[in-house]
Amino acid sequence: MEYKKNDIVVVEIEDMGEGGEGIGKIEGFPLFIKDALLGDTIEARITKMKKGYGYARLEKVISPSSFRVEPMCEFHRQCGGCQLQALSYEKQLAFKENKVENNLMRLGGFSREVLEARKEPIVGMEECFHYRNKAQFPVGTDKEGNSVAGFYAGRTHSIIPNTDCALGAYENKEILEIVLEYMEEYRIAAYDETTGKGLIRHVLIRKGFATGELMVCLVINGKKLPGKEALIEKLSRIPNMTSLSYSINQKNTNVIMGEEIQLLWGSGTIEDRIGDISFLISPLSFYQVNPVQTKRLYELAVEYASLKGNETVWDLYCGIGTISLFMAKGARQVCGVEIIPQAIEDAKVNAARNNIRNVQFFAGKAEEVLPEKYTRDHIRADVIVVDPPRKGCDEKCLQTMLAMKPERIVYVSCNSATLARDLKVLAKGGYELKRWRAVDMFPHTVHVETVVLLSEEKSTCRRSGQSTWGGRR
Ligand code: SAH
Repeated sequence: MEYKKNDIVVVEIEDMGEGGEGIGKIEGFPLFIKDALLGDTIEARITKMKKGYGYARLEKVISPSSFRVEPMCEFHRQCGGCQLQALSYEKQLAFKENKVENNLMRLGGFSREVLEARKEPIVGMEECFHYRNKAQFPVGTDKEGNSVAGFYAGRTHSIIPNTDCALGAYENKEILEIVLEYMEEYRIAAYDETTGKGLIRHVLIRKGFATGELMVCLVINGKKLPGKEALIEKLSRIPNMTSLSYSINQKNTNVIMGEEIQLLWGSGTIEDRIGDISFLISPLSFYQVNPVQTKRLYELAVEYASLKGNETVWDLYCGIGTISLFMAKGARQVCGVEIIPQAIEDAKVNAARNNIRNVQFFAGKAEEVLPEKYTRDHIRADVIVVDPPRKGCDEKCLQTMLAMKPERIVYVSCNSATLARDLKVLAKGGYELKRWRAVDMFPHTVHVETVVLLSEEKSTCRRSGQSTWGGRR
């Protein structure tokens, strides 16, 4: 191949990669080009040539794809958070569904016919901007010495000022402007990670979409917040402001939050509801960031579980117990397992707040808790729900699930590659893929969630819900 770095080439974009990059061929060799869209013809500069493929940078769109739309945010290319913002929303959804289907075929070994027949159309959003209920804006200093808040450019640590992210809550802008004004007034410097000096590192903002309640938590590189009364005065006047706090983080790390939270004003928490279940959220709590789609995702998981009321359900990787609580109304009992002890504490508090009594939560690894309870306590399950992190389920967990022979397995996944790998194991173990549906939890990004229903093949009619906690079948 004669092409080399810095060559300018004309490419037609014929496909899109996992990360949303455009793929076009030069003399049969694929080039991966960020910001180029399916259907574009572009001029690109080659940045790297490897054996058999290469990378290039978009220089100029010669003829734009019919799927191109005017992006909402002028920074979308620099920021990198919204890889797909220039693609029409309809096409984004098609891209995501296709990505899942391809992985299920390629890595899961399912045939296109089966997948097509059992697919339900991807769940998109009507309002696909301003859906995030949580934002963590880094604070820094610009060349003129002014404090700025915004986002890190690409994979760097230099901050591009933007207080108005198109995915975030509308209130973020006003809150950030008040914080920046306060910093100027009290001559408080932003943290500088190269010198380790300066005070304000990040501004965390959370909003309960169902209640409107707002929370602000400043992450600071110090023990005190000078002039905090003035800041409290201004921020607390924002309608629905419920909690102001700060978190001390004096370590030179990429971890945003410090370990402890100091309350400045208000309750320290906000309340939110998903469906009719209420949650109490603190600055450190794990909570899904798109509440509108989370409700749809959980409803779908409940629908796939098709509970009649007498089932024992296991919810593995349960986080703060959200899916468990959603399932509890329709089941006899639900048991949740989660590795982070604090999340299990939150799950218990949330169950109590909502007066849900037929749930139990266990802190530990799914691949340890489940086998142990199965061999020692002979626990059983009619339905097992899993919602693992990106790396998917542990093999030991999958094997225990198979041994327990639940009638149905509902797999909720944020990574269709590991989903496909795990489904292959479950299919080999005698489970059949019955239904699947992608859910767009993160419009404009390349991420996609999937819910899959599996049921036991040739399942004989088994009576369910006859035993008590831990009873033998
Ligand atoms: N179902 C929850 C959380 C899903 S995120 C919700 O919808 O809110 C995945 C969760 O799995 C995280 O809370 C993470 O802490 C947890 N986790 C990661 N590895 C685990 C393991 N080996 N065993 C149990 N939980 C684990």
